[in-house]
Amino acid sequence: MGKERRTMHVQLCMRGDMREEDAKKGISRRQFLAGSVAAVAGTLASDKLLAQTAATPQKKTGTKVILLGTGGGPRPNKVRNQSSQVVISNGIPYVIDCGGGVSRQMVFAGVPLTGLKNIFITHNHSDHNLECGALIYNAWVSGFKGKVDAYGPPPLARMTKSFLETNEYDISVRIPDEGRQPLGPMIEAHEMSKPGLVMQDDNVKVTCALVNHPPVVPSFAYRFDTKDHSVVFSGDTTPSENLVELAKGADVLIHEVLHKPGLAKLMARVPNADRLLEHIVGSHTTTDDLGKVAKQAGVKKLVLTHFVPVDDPSITDEMWVGPVRAHFDGEIVVGRDLLEV
Ligand SMILES: [Zn+2]
Ligand SMILES: [Zn+2]
Repeated sequence: MGKERRTMHVQLCMRGDMREEDAKKGISRRQFLAGSVAAVAGTLASDKLLAQTAATPQKKTGTKVILLGTGGGPRPNKVRNQSSQVVISNGIPYVIDCGGGVSRQMVFAGVPLTGLKNIFITHNHSDHNLECGALIYNAWVSGFKGKVDAYGPPPLARMTKSFLETNEYDISVRIPDEGRQPLGPMIEAHEMSKPGLVMQDDNVKVTCALVNHPPVVPSFAYRFDTKDHSVVFSGDTTPSENLVELAKGADVLIHEVLHKPGLAKLMARVPNADRLLEHIVGSHTTTDDLGKVAKQAGVKKLVLTHFVPVDDPSITDEMWVGPVRAHFDGEIVVGRDLLEV
């Protein structure tokens, strides 16, 4: 797959960075925010869960996944953030998708932006990539001084370059004014068009498969194999044989889900109902089909995410799980923002 990728360094930038004491302040602010999150997020998840998640320091060994955003679709709402997850393996974060709000969700989850290293975009719908450039930028203004490798379908390189051009004024002001290093050379965009090996380091081996999410081509699912765990992220897809193959025997499958009976209410409040309904039904996976996918893949645990409809309180957890359970007898988790898996 190496030959299929176009690698691009985006030049721009600066030198210098956040001082040590600023980084320390960042930690105490994080602890403060953890308290704030627990206070306001009653509709997102249980207070207990959020308090535990946000206050827990990142372990330096082992593997865990934090759901940063579990909402499906581009429309902002009060219940779930746009799509994003982070795998943390031996203290290194691997961010999968960057929907709007991902930077702040990283802060809430206690994952230091200064540790940003790898980003993987499943496909180029805005609820998965809107904050990709901004996440890197936000890490930069937070004191990040390393290099970010971003992987995803074309036009990832052009989008990265455009982001830097759009924000060139601010970036060029901050370089001399705040003593920061140039941002462009810190970013390497790897464009992928085919399935296979994405990257490998001391912690993880990342592979991908093509999934079916018309009209967005290519759309990828990612599998992360670490020394102790395997986890697969579906991205957006209809039931996919490629996904089933990629997820064979994985410990955890984190998969998008659509509650088809709930669509009628959703369509009643949007102006483009006919076209939108056609897209949703033809590009996503229903609760019923998801149970079959999880069973075929033989995964141990299934985590539901990218909920569509995203903010209909009449759809209970039992309604999300019931049709899945009819086919899959492994563990089923209804995903929530900031849930640690
Ligand atoms: Zn989506
Ligand atoms: Zn999509």
